[in-house]
Amino acid sequence: MNAEIINVGTELLMGDVVNTNATFIAKHLQDYGINNYFQTVIGDNPARLEAQIKQSLSRSDMIIITGGLGPTYDDLTKEIVAQALNLEMVMDLASKERIESYFKKSHRAMPHNNLKQAMIPDGSRALDNNYGTAPGVLIEQNDKTVILLPGPPRELKPMFMNAIIPFLAEKRDFMIVSDRVYIQGIGESHIEEALSSLMIESTNPTIAPYLHENGVMLRVSARSRSQEEGHALNQNAVNVILETFPDNIMGVNIGSLEEELVLELTKRNQTIATAESCTGGLLAKRITDVNGSSAIFNYGAVTYSNTMKTQVLGVDSSLFDSVGAVSKEVAEAMALGVKKLANADYGIGITGIAGPTGGTVEKPVGTVYIALATTAGCVTEKYMFGHRHLDRESVRYAASQAALALIHKHLK
Ligand code: ATP
Repeated sequence: MNAEIINVGTELLMGDVVNTNATFIAKHLQDYGINNYFQTVIGDNPARLEAQIKQSLSRSDMIIITGGLGPTYDDLTKEIVAQALNLEMVMDLASKERIESYFKKSHRAMPHNNLKQAMIPDGSRALDNNYGTAPGVLIEQNDKTVILLPGPPRELKPMFMNAIIPFLAEKRDFMIVSDRVYIQGIGESHIEEALSSLMIESTNPTIAPYLHENGVMLRVSARSRSQEEGHALNQNAVNVILETFPDNIMGVNIGSLEEELVLELTKRNQTIATAESCTGGLLAKRITDVNGSSAIFNYGAVTYSNTMKTQVLGVDSSLFDSVGAVSKEVAEAMALGVKKLANADYGIGITGIAGPTGGTVEKPVGTVYIALATTAGCVTEKYMFGHRHLDRESVRYAASQAALALIHKHLK
């Protein structure tokens, strides 16, 4: 089955909003073995939208359209789809009731134009929206399926999971089951070279490398009838990859580094504390974003000034003059200080220059020292992020990522 995605919204074309709906939907289509050959972004323009829908109907079995289901005059997706398919618009009484009760529950009077949202193309199915007023719509006509979903991701995602996933599960002939092997410390081209015969010869599963924030991710994907069969088909290729790069494997099907950290420390019944300067608490935020992190994270300090590095963490103030705040010695003292202060098993210290100004010839923007204090001592790494990360935000993110990778490597 071939599907395509149309995302409606001038804000997407203008670059004001990132088109996360397309990636979210495409990923699920892939999992359900449905080919996604086209993704189109189109502004809130009725004529262009109608022309696009007609073109999409001529070449795809399924069209998933997002956005333009709101109550305002420029939200015209439903009406244009109905026009393209020669369907009347009719009132869906269940949706009308749901929209009315949505306003009643939030103690607000319902503007009359919200009733427009309860109108759906004749013969279609309304999809409940539990997080907003616009119902989605599913139309099946002459072997074609057209699905309309609201634009806001917080409305679209639950609707997709509740109504569209079961629908796709029924439609699919087979599924794609993927295993992901994460590799660090070797470049993509070296990996491709080492695995070239496996990658060329293997057709089910297929093996494809992707650049990943920590290195390279190899996706091994099999077409199969069940999860079990898919993983069994993948196993041989996964084993070859594990055997080819024994020292560089980060893991198979692992979550984000922060999820892995929480999982691993919980298993070990250990704790971590962080002392951050240039990352401004980003590392602590990322760790505490993970559900269950309170079991392993007991303290995070953002010691931006030298005075506070000394007062809170006990960093020897003479170091600021002798080696500077951005140095191996200060990172180490921060890690050891926070570990002791929080009585944790691990302490992380991060100090660096996030930029865009403030660097020197010896320590250019992007220079970051990260120390990991453990009961066995302290390891410190120096990173030069400036050549790949130009802006403040990406230097800070890269530093938090490197800190997570450092502890991940140590825990392995
Ligand atoms: P509403 O009732 O909120 O008007 P709608 O279905 O008409 O819903 P749009 O007006 O097209 O949706 O989009 C509403 C908001 O949803 C956009 O301003 C944007 O923030 C977000 N949004 C829309 N499309 C996308 C997309 N493809 N990816 C990510 N966010 C999106």
